[in-house]
Amino acid sequence: MTTKTKRFFLPESEIPTQWYNIQADMVNKPMPPLNPATREPLKPSDLYPIFAKALADQELNQTDAWIDIPEAVREQYKNYRSTPLVRAYGLEKALGTPAHIYFKNESVSPVGSHKLNSAVAQAYYCKQEGVTNITTETGAGQWGAALSYAAKAFGLELAVYMVKISYEQKPYRRSIMQTFGAQVTASPSMSTKAGRKILTEHPNYQGSLGTAISEAIELAMSTPNCKYTLGSVLSHVTLHQTVIGLEAEKQMQMAGEYPDIVIGCFGGGSNFGGISFPFMRHNILEGKKTRFIAAEPSSCPKLTRGQFRYDFGDEAGYTPLLPMFTLGHNFAPAHIHAGGLRYHGAGVIVSQLLKDKLMEAVDIDQLESFDAGTLFAQAEGIIPAPESCHAIAAAIKEANKCKETGEEKVILFNLSGHGLIDMAAYDKYLSGDLQNYALSDEEIAKNLAELE
Ligand SMILES: *Cc1c(COP(=O)(O)O)cnc(C)c1O
Repeated sequence: MTTKTKRFFLPESEIPTQWYNIQADMVNKPMPPLNPATREPLKPSDLYPIFAKALADQELNQTDAWIDIPEAVREQYKNYRSTPLVRAYGLEKALGTPAHIYFKNESVSPVGSHKLNSAVAQAYYCKQEGVTNITTETGAGQWGAALSYAAKAFGLELAVYMVKISYEQKPYRRSIMQTFGAQVTASPSMSTKAGRKILTEHPNYQGSLGTAISEAIELAMSTPNCKYTLGSVLSHVTLHQTVIGLEAEKQMQMAGEYPDIVIGCFGGGSNFGGISFPFMRHNILEGKKTRFIAAEPSSCPKLTRGQFRYDFGDEAGYTPLLPMFTLGHNFAPAHIHAGGLRYHGAGVIVSQLLKDKLMEAVDIDQLESFDAGTLFAQAEGIIPAPESCHAIAAAIKEANKCKETGEEKVILFNLSGHGLIDMAAYDKYLSGDLQNYALSDEEIAKNLAELE
């Protein structure tokens, strides 16, 4: 009898020592972010007032494929890495598919999601450069929770603007942030110009990531020795997340397989890029044919129905202009429970890769995502984050295709987080209170037409 291995682990010594920067290997590099005032391409020094210098340099680095992970960051990674690569035998059986399904379980981090991989790196570089205070925004609270942990680990004060609807729907993420010593404010708030403007125009506005970003940047710019940090979208964030794919690559070797399909859910692109780019490197450099699928919510479909163009990363227009797939920075996404996916745009790297057809995207309805998450929970014993449910739904679609064709494809998806602090969302789903949000072409076109 052969014994089947369920989980694949790497020893601490095999935790990656470098991050992978796909920009260096891309044939068509991302177009440059532009200074909104001058329309000139951005230089790293333009970003120094807002971000730690090392992070600004990483952001625009298109030459170095490998970037050393500082030892202090690796020490933090040892608290939860390597994360397991898991063969989803239970899900395969439930689906009756010949496909081999694997998932990388990033939900085992102390805060329950992949976000810690970049949070500890960003806090480390801020501390190195003598920064004392950092600000950020958070949607569902995952990034805020990760950054509060990291800020405490490196001795920084943290102020978080949390999207108001999540502040109310996910009170325990706020408690986590406060437990780690962060100060948390519901956004939009009256504490910034950007927040006051939006509240004056729309008193009942429930907030969005775009608005919270504007508030956090404004606070960072007006506070001495303070930097802003971001948990997704930017290229340096995705760079840090490549530890996911780099570990997965070695673990797939242990399993004796190589993925035909790699899937991640998509908010701004960091967990998708994190699991995909180390494998995509072999497509670019060696002609491998792995497919990469980003799973986004139907209610916020920037990749499948947005436009590739220059747009702001935030609601108020404080950020540089980014060349990206966007629904327009003024887009107000429906109040779906996958708060981490309610963002109007996509990172510049993934946007270029999608334009160049090196990856694909798929839209998932809210109800389908929870159907998938519930099936996964029952088959594998882990309740997934509402965001991660989108990746699971996309993996199930592909596994079902294999069932029809009889193909034994190898599917790898990233389980970006667990859902144990999102049970209010599951409650609504289980009681039949959740709905899908259809978005018409007219609504999308109208929103994009409002951009200059
Ligand atoms: C934030 C978050 C996401 C979405 O962000 P990306 O940058 O696109 O990865 C997905 N899953 C979880 C659990 C999250 O916390």
